[in-house]
Amino acid sequence: MSTEARSSNEAAFARAQRVTPGGVNSPVRAFRAVGGTPRFIRRAEGPFMWDIEGRRYIDYIGSWGPMILGHGHPAVLEAVTRAASQGLSFGAPTEAEAELAEAIVALVPSVEQLRLVSSGTEAAMSALRLARGATGRAKIIKFEGCYHGHADALLVKAGSGLATFGHPTSAGVPPEVVQHTLVLEYNNPAQLDEAFTTHGHDIACVVIEPIAGNMNFVRPSLPFVARLRELCTRHGALLVFDEVMTGFRVALGGAQSLYAQALPGFRPDVSVFGKVIGGGMPLAAFGGTREVMGKLAPLGPVYQAGTLSGNPVATACGLATLREIVKPGFFETLAGKTRSLIDGLAAAGREAGVPLVSDCEGGMFGFFFADALPQNYDSVMATDKARFNRFFHAMLERGVYLAPALYEAGFVSAAHGDAEIEATLEAARSALRV
Ligand SMILES: *Cc1c(COP(=O)(O)O)cnc(C)c1O
Repeated sequence: MSTEARSSNEAAFARAQRVTPGGVNSPVRAFRAVGGTPRFIRRAEGPFMWDIEGRRYIDYIGSWGPMILGHGHPAVLEAVTRAASQGLSFGAPTEAEAELAEAIVALVPSVEQLRLVSSGTEAAMSALRLARGATGRAKIIKFEGCYHGHADALLVKAGSGLATFGHPTSAGVPPEVVQHTLVLEYNNPAQLDEAFTTHGHDIACVVIEPIAGNMNFVRPSLPFVARLRELCTRHGALLVFDEVMTGFRVALGGAQSLYAQALPGFRPDVSVFGKVIGGGMPLAAFGGTREVMGKLAPLGPVYQAGTLSGNPVATACGLATLREIVKPGFFETLAGKTRSLIDGLAAAGREAGVPLVSDCEGGMFGFFFADALPQNYDSVMATDKARFNRFFHAMLERGVYLAPALYEAGFVSAAHGDAEIEATLEAARSALRV
């Protein structure tokens, strides 16, 4: 059936809902947080996406992070086309996989070896198994508001007391499955101290988003990062940086490279990547020291595998993307654009008399309708949701596609030019009056 024949988002959504739960293949796409009908996308190019009704949007989602070069970058398209013509999947090793691994190892000093997988969920889940297998310990610490994919043990929220074990956040996850997951408040070193004092000898790892992008945009304080490192080292737990969003996005070496500048010698033990390293194709990775990675099958006792892991087309896409972002000046330019967007939004807020705070790093940004930048999940959720939802729809009507929930980060690509940034700010000045 031709998609051209169906031209309305309403009709497309109704059709999708008949055969797909909620009409979408990933819940946030359904616009539940902001209300309304999701836009069905027909195509994208550079900084733009077009929906099936022919409306054009300046895209600040970028497939939730991967599209750092913008859509349809010629070098990426060429690499993908060439790889596809040579075979879609072999189930046998290729040289390109080693080449991608070498590129990542060269950019991230904490990673000596890595394994390629197909999604961030898979990478984070495997990293946890590796941490547990390598330490022989069961317990893990995560932070409220951080997302590490939807593996069962990570679908958990804080229990009632401080440093108590969590409760499942999804049906289908038995409490026993999360009984080893401690959920702590982001940016709360006292809770971290308490957790390690009580459970230190049982903790396999602490997993954290090193800039939290799944509660919009929340930075950890430097003392908090330093304390994390110190406690993990002292207690023999692994520090797992989930850089699925921040890796190759906030800086070439990920968020960890920023902390290494401020805290000499700083390194996580295990890193998780996704999004940008696949350039828009299903590809993710986890890596660490040779010693830790040596615990993985076939060398070691920790099992992990994947039919499509290191898929040649996805690998080619990731490699072509990395080749662009390592070019001199790439991140400086990207960061400059993101900064001008974010400063412009803050100025628009001031002009409109609307409390609006914003922050960014590299090509990733966040903004909140609040008086101060939130430091943890509760303060993110206490920002003005009604105002955010109004602003989101007003921007969408004006052709600017922001993430459809106040707890999601935004992304600028290399294809966003001054004209798009200025058009976005023009839309914002008007949308803030709605
Ligand atoms: C997106 C994301 C994941 C999950 O990746 P998928 O590819 O969607 O499974 C994990 N961790 C973080 C920090 C993410 O942003």
